[in-house]
Parts: sequence; C-alpha cells; structure tokens
Amino acid sequence: MIIVRAGADLLGGTEITHGFTDSGKEYEERQGILRGYGIDCDCKLSSNKKRSRERRFDRVF
Ligand SMILES: [Zn+2]
Repeated sequence: MIIVRAGADLLGGTEITHGFTDSGKEYEERQGILRGYGIDCDCKLSSNKKRSRERRFDRVF
C-alpha cells in the first residue's frame, strides 16, 4: 500500500502521478525500469529524454 499526501490543496480532478524512477537517469535506464512495471511511458520527461538521446546519436553519425 502506498499512501500519498499532498503538500497543498488539490482541485478536484487533479491528476496525481508517481515517477517510479529517478528522473535524472538516462532514457534507456528509465525505460528499462518502467518496462519492469509494465509501463511504456511517453510522458513529457520521457519524450524529452528520448529526443535528447536521438540528438546525441545524430551527432555521432
Ligand atoms: Zn515517462
């Protein structure tokens, strides 16, 4: 069981999310951890990290 406590009042309908991983990890490592939870994540952070990874890859080749 996980109990989540908000640090501020929330409006009804506010989405509450949980990261499942350290947001500072690299894209592949994060996705590997998330796949272990059965999650194929395309949130804003994952999408940004994926684009950063692709840009680095493009510079190499
Ligand atoms: Zn994500």
